[in-house]
Amino acid sequence: MLCVNTVFKKLASFKKTVVLAGGVGGARFLQGLTRILPPDRLDIIGNVGDDIELYGLHISPDLDTVMYTIAGLVDEEKGWGLKKDSFNFLQMFKHYDCRTWFKIGDMDVATHIFRTFLIQKGLPLSEVTKILCHNLGVKYNIIPVTDDKVRTKVDTKEGLLDFQEYFVKKKFEVEIRKVIFEGANDSIPNSNALKVIEKAQIIIFAPSNPIVSIGCILSVPGIKEAIKRSKAYKVAISPIIGGKAVRGPAHKMMKELGNESSSFGVAAIYKELINVMIIDNRDVNLKTSINDLGMSVIVTNTLMSNMDSKINLARLALNSMSDVQS
Ligand code: GDP
Repeated sequence: MLCVNTVFKKLASFKKTVVLAGGVGGARFLQGLTRILPPDRLDIIGNVGDDIELYGLHISPDLDTVMYTIAGLVDEEKGWGLKKDSFNFLQMFKHYDCRTWFKIGDMDVATHIFRTFLIQKGLPLSEVTKILCHNLGVKYNIIPVTDDKVRTKVDTKEGLLDFQEYFVKKKFEVEIRKVIFEGANDSIPNSNALKVIEKAQIIIFAPSNPIVSIGCILSVPGIKEAIKRSKAYKVAISPIIGGKAVRGPAHKMMKELGNESSSFGVAAIYKELINVMIIDNRDVNLKTSINDLGMSVIVTNTLMSNMDSKINLARLALNSMSDVQS
C-alpha cells in the first residue's frame, strides 16, 4: 500500500498546478489533491457567481465550501456548511424575514458577518478570502476569479431567478432557458488568477458544474484566453457519471440548454480548452466520441466516495500528462 509520503516522493517534480473549482464537487476533489500537493504548488481559482447578498450579509457559498473543506471543517455528509453546526439563528430569523430557505448555520454565520465587515471596510473579496483562509489555517491560495460583482442568473418560465433561488429555493425543478452571468462582461479578472494560469504546468477543471461553476469562471473576460494561451497541460474531470450529476442540477441544466447530458456533453463544452478528459468507468462507451473532439480520454473511477478515491483521482489528474503520452 502506498502511504501519502510515498505518493509525495513519487510526484517528485510537483508540477505548478491550478484548479478551477466550484463548490462541493470541486472541494471533494481538492480534498484529495491537497493531500498530495503542498500549498506552494497549488492555486485554486474559485467561482463567485453563486454569491448572494442576504440580510445585509455577503455570502460566498462556493469559496466557503472549498475553504471549509480544506480546513477540515466541512460537514462531510452535506458537502457544504460546517460540521456539527445548528440552525437556531434561522429559526429566530423566520420572525423577521421569510427568506430562510437559504440555510445558514449558527457557526457559519460568523464567516459571513466577518466577510461582510471586511468588505464594508473596503477590502476586495480576494483579500477578504485570504484573511478568512489564514484565520482557519488554510495555507492554499483560494483566488476568487474576480473581485467584481458577477452573479449567475437563470432564465426560466417563472422569469429571471438568482442562482440560489433556482438551486436552493426551487430545488432546480423549474426548467431553464438560459444562464446569464450578470456583470461578467464588465468584470476584471483577478490579476493573481491570470498570473497563476500563466505560470501553471497543469490546469485542472475540477468535477464541478460545467455550466454554472466552471462556466462562470470562464465567463470573466480574459480567463478563457489566458487558459488557451497557457502552455500548461489541461485536464478536466467529468462531474457526470452515467448521464447524471452525482448531485445537483448539472445534467438537467445541460439538457435544458441543448447540450448532451453526459461526459461527452461536458467534453464538448471544454473543447479547445483541454488536452485530457477524465471520465468514469461507466462511461467507457463515450471514449471514442470524446477522442473525436480532439482530446485524450482517461477512464477510471471518478466517484469520490472516500479519501482514497479522492487521492487516487487527484493523483491520476496530476499524472495524466505522462499517462496519456506514454
Ligand atoms: P456546487 O457549486 O456546490 O454545485 O459545486 P460544484 O459545481 O463544484 O460541484 C457540483 C458537481 O460536482 C455536480 O455536478 C456533481 O456531479 C459533481 N460531483 C460531486 N461529487 C462527485 C464525485 O464524487 N465524482 C464526480 N465525478 N463528480 C462529483
